[in-house]
Amino acid sequence: MANEEKTKQSVCPVCGAELNQEKCKVVCRSENCVYRIIYNCSEF
Ligand SMILES: [Zn+2]
Repeated sequence: MANEEKTKQSVCPVCGAELNQEKCKVVCRSENCVYRIIYNCSEF
């Protein structure tokens, strides 16, 4: 189950751009999302 979630993290579910992993969260920094938080610590 955990592995499935990891593969989903590779692109933004909203705009399809690549995600950026930061210290404790994964964010989308595309023009559409600007700085949308996709995952945070509580979901890892
Ligand atoms: Zn996005």
